[in-house]
Amino acid sequence: MTEFERFDGVDGFDGFDRSPPALLPLRTTNEERDRAAEVAVLPIGSFEQHGPYLPLTTDTVIAVTIAAAIDAAYPVLRLPPITISCSHEHAAWAGTVSISATTLTAVVHDVAESLRRSGVGSLVLVNGHGGNYVLSNVVQEAGPAGGSMALFPSLEAWSTARTAAGIVTSIDDDMHAGELETSLLLHAHPHLVRPGYESSDHLAADREHLLTLGLAAYTESGVVGRPSLASAEKGRDVLASLVTSFAETLAALAALGR
Ligand SMILES: [Zn+2]
Repeated sequence: MTEFERFDGVDGFDGFDRSPPALLPLRTTNEERDRAAEVAVLPIGSFEQHGPYLPLTTDTVIAVTIAAAIDAAYPVLRLPPITISCSHEHAAWAGTVSISATTLTAVVHDVAESLRRSGVGSLVLVNGHGGNYVLSNVVQEAGPAGGSMALFPSLEAWSTARTAAGIVTSIDDDMHAGELETSLLLHAHPHLVRPGYESSDHLAADREHLLTLGLAAYTESGVVGRPSLASAEKGRDVLASLVTSFAETLAALAALGR
């Protein structure tokens, strides 16, 4: 039986749609014309190791999952993701691929300009990868004078979501493939989580020279955090909290008055 046949429902299909949230936006141009969104959301992920139990695309899956949840709650134009970004500190592990901060900046600028030309004045970068430091500068430069741009989730939005979901590990300890990321995937895309997260905890509080030495100086498996504490329920509550917090980002953009 092929995948196509399975989703076509010819064989053993019982009428229930168990497919996870679509990773790519699937509306037509006419549907977007009728929605006439004034704010676009651009998910930005990465292609980097996430330990032995989460896929290289984890940050992308998380960014598009957040964007899809936002899309379901607010009238936004949801864009397809940028799937490769600044993961240089993970280069020691197989499969990891990066682009430079300069290239990422250029792509975001081009997308923002293309949106402006088509009448969508505001852009929210939904970032799933902490190593994309440069995005803060892109939004900073856009500022109140020139552009209409925001970075989401903010540190405050993540922090609120962690508390709301009962995430135990601190933001600093839960750095990579830990409690938060594993919970989000267990909730939204459980078929992507391999066995092993239950017994892969590794803490490395001191990562002072991370950017100089790379992450491999601090973890053998690539994990920094406590994935054994992850649960689908925590992932669900993190996502719900982020969707609520997004209203404040929209309000900030609206305050710009364009
Ligand atoms: Zn990640």
